[in-house]
Amino acid sequence: MKDYKRLYINGQWQIPQGAGQIVVVNPATEGVVGRVPQGAAADIDQAVDAARSALPSWSATSPQIRSGYLKQLHQELVARAPEIAALISDELGMPIKLSQRIQAGLPALVTNSYAELLETYDFSERIANSLVVKEPIGVVAAITPWNYPLHQLMIKVAAALAAGCTLIAKPSELAPLNAFVLAEIIDSCGLPPGVFNLVSGYGEVVGEALAAHPQVDMVSFTGSTQAGRRVSRLAAESIKRVALELGGKSAAVILDDANLETAVKATVNSCFLNSGQTCSAHTRMLVPESLYEHCARLTVEIAAKFQPGSPHDMTTRLGPLVSAEQRDRVVNYIRQGIAAGADLLLGGEESPPGLPLGFYVQPTVFGRVTADMVIAREEIFGPVLCIMPYKDEEDAIRIANDSVYGLAGGVWSENPERAERIARRMQTGQVDINGGRFNLKAPFGGYKQSGNGRELGSYGLEEFLQIKSIQF
Ligand code: NAD
Repeated sequence: MKDYKRLYINGQWQIPQGAGQIVVVNPATEGVVGRVPQGAAADIDQAVDAARSALPSWSATSPQIRSGYLKQLHQELVARAPEIAALISDELGMPIKLSQRIQAGLPALVTNSYAELLETYDFSERIANSLVVKEPIGVVAAITPWNYPLHQLMIKVAAALAAGCTLIAKPSELAPLNAFVLAEIIDSCGLPPGVFNLVSGYGEVVGEALAAHPQVDMVSFTGSTQAGRRVSRLAAESIKRVALELGGKSAAVILDDANLETAVKATVNSCFLNSGQTCSAHTRMLVPESLYEHCARLTVEIAAKFQPGSPHDMTTRLGPLVSAEQRDRVVNYIRQGIAAGADLLLGGEESPPGLPLGFYVQPTVFGRVTADMVIAREEIFGPVLCIMPYKDEEDAIRIANDSVYGLAGGVWSENPERAERIARRMQTGQVDINGGRFNLKAPFGGYKQSGNGRELGSYGLEEFLQIKSIQF
């Protein structure tokens, strides 16, 4: 069991000012995986002081020096990847095979991508008689969720460090242990004291203290729309920059000329990945009315193969949900779907058989879901797929855009021009055509209430830069 009693502040493992620890529970076994300190506002004050003191020298380092640190970080993340994957499977419940590739693999790739970007990125530009220089925004608070915990954190850490910012990381209280491994790695790489600080604790306490702190220049937040709204309000007092990566309710539009089997399979995979706890999951599958019966049958066939099981079994594709509270929320949505009159085609509210322990939910598919139903409008964050029939292309676009969210989406068609035409009309920050692969160098972020920031690649770097014009 990982028992962390200290916070990482100013290059040292410090005794917290706050009392008590947060217990981290394994959602598959309901046993204790570890403990981390329950930080307090006084810990945030210390961490912000450390980050502020470290800023002048860190922001003055050359991109080559920063790239060198990121390369070292990348190597250590790769070396400790098996440990990280197993730890995140224990904290979160993601099946180990996926955890290896995604939870441990992605953060290392992201770190490397920023190390490489620094070799070519130009921090200045000439515009006629002006020299435009891009400077680090300053002290950054990185507040992150539990669903892809190290990935979400590393996207911010790597980009902020690359930009020349110093930071305070506040991981989710549900899966914070991996952030402590990251702090160990950063410590072993010899990053100057105060450049990276880690304070664990509850959002309402340490998260709010960070968002409100006058010496924090920017909050980079990933999490729920509700908490993002609160962070924005607190940050407004000192006019901080706020970058928000929030929830989603993304649509996969399957057109009548699509390869149906491939499209349905990929949409089910996207929806059920990480037990449906993915912000960009395609949770609404839009199918032509004329092909509805066929698509519904295919979906049930494919979704039924996602039988829940132990995350440490290499063949498991569907683990538990992260917590009992999350499981109850999802079950409640399933009840609302049934009550609203959607067709329950697979799964349901009962716990899956043969799993007496753990926060498991059956893979669930609803058919003939209409846009007014709660299950079509709200982010469920569980393995629940809604199939929504549409009349024609215009109707499909209308349904896809009928959401307060706009994070991701998909279009499936054998006609690339037609697919692109529809992709361009979707009000979302990402659209994948025929399962287009996730691109680590392309900007990721939301339209509407899915947020206002962009992460990854050069756009992600620029989030942490401010711009000065010098005239000659
Ligand atoms: P959450 O909003 O409950 O928590 C996210 C983080 O914010 C945690 O560290 C939490 O402690 C902190 N927090 C909570 N309340 C706060 C407050 N009042 N002030 C400051 N900090 C506060 O979200 P979650 O349950 O951890 O994560 C799930 C949500 O995150 C989903 O809505 C999901 O869609 C979203 N998400 C979005 C993206 C994206 O890139 N758009 C990626 C992953 C997850």
